[in-house]
Amino acid sequence: MNKRGHVLNALLLSIGIGYLLEPSGDLATFEMIAKVSVPMVLGALFPDVDTAFGPHRKALHNLFVLGVIAAYPVYFGNLQYVWIGVLSHFALDLLGTRRGLALFYPLLNREFNFPIGVRVDSKYATAMMLAVTGFELVVAAAIIYRVPQFAAQEGARMIGLL
Ligand SMILES: [Zn+2]
Repeated sequence: MNKRGHVLNALLLSIGIGYLLEPSGDLATFEMIAKVSVPMVLGALFPDVDTAFGPHRKALHNLFVLGVIAAYPVYFGNLQYVWIGVLSHFALDLLGTRRGLALFYPLLNREFNFPIGVRVDSKYATAMMLAVTGFELVVAAAIIYRVPQFAAQEGARMIGLL
């Protein structure tokens, strides 16, 4: 996917995630969208830096890079939400385009892909980006609404309340 597709994907996804995290629809929702959108767009642009710094769709399109960026908020207390942008970039490349990603690079050079993608310059690229964004929002909603409930139930079970 090209930069335009990745930026639009991250913007739409950040609006959706902003509403999912703060569904009131008032100022708090717009603050949440502002909070997540810029880091997510920056994260969505980051993997394609490997077009300039070594093998494209490998060097910065792998799970190791995602893990390092996801560790920043935990270890350094910064770059919150950037990893979501990186993950959305991977999802859009993986699901929306024909060429795959070397997810285990540098351990494994093989590129993984799904057979549903379109060419980057296809007239269906925008429709594919919107479909992938919709899928990502369903996954985000499932995580945001189900995981805390599940974690709370497991926690209650562990301390003997359930
Ligand atoms: Zn890419």
